[in-house]
Amino acid sequence: SGYTVAIVGRPNVGKSTFFNRLLEQRKAIVDDISGVTRDRQYGIAEWVGKSFNVIDTGGFVPRSEDVFEKEIKKQVLIALEEADALIFMTDTATGITDLDESMADVLRRSAKPVYLTVNKVDNHERLLEATEFYSMGFEHVYFISAISGSGTGELLDAVTEPI
Ligand code: GDP
Ligand code: MG
Repeated sequence: SGYTVAIVGRPNVGKSTFFNRLLEQRKAIVDDISGVTRDRQYGIAEWVGKSFNVIDTGGFVPRSEDVFEKEIKKQVLIALEEADALIFMTDTATGITDLDESMADVLRRSAKPVYLTVNKVDNHERLLEATEFYSMGFEHVYFISAISGSGTGELLDAVTEPI
């Protein structure tokens, strides 16, 4: 029971890094290799006295490009069912990719709040580049560095607002 937030996004954008930061304990496996976290990870996070469930998604090993995209969409659909809100994580180091676009197509149809989160905004230069993500047309857009924690406060304020 309780409010549930799922973190979705293509592999390597920093979902597990952010999840671990939220939980402040190493429950998910973070690695440089894409798709290391096998299944969904569940945890409980707290932000300014509010408790909520967090799901880290994205655990699968792609067998081919086709299956890869299908699997990612499946993960998003499962998350949409399980969660009250979604953090759609992207990565400014790579910019907007085709997979981001195809996930965005699914997420835009959701009635649940979607917080587009642009990760790896480690410095001012990256912040300037990251503004391209406004073109995806989401109402809520946040720029964070999951490693340093910068910007994560604003994101969590917004995500926990409905609780
Ligand atoms: P996931 O596949 O989406 O769960 O991504 P991970 O959390 O496993 O992170 C993938 C890679 O991105 C790792 O090498 C992380 O250290 C790196 N990473 C995560 N967050 C940041 C960030 O804020 N800045 C930078 N520069 N790298 C990051
Ligand atoms: Mg992961």
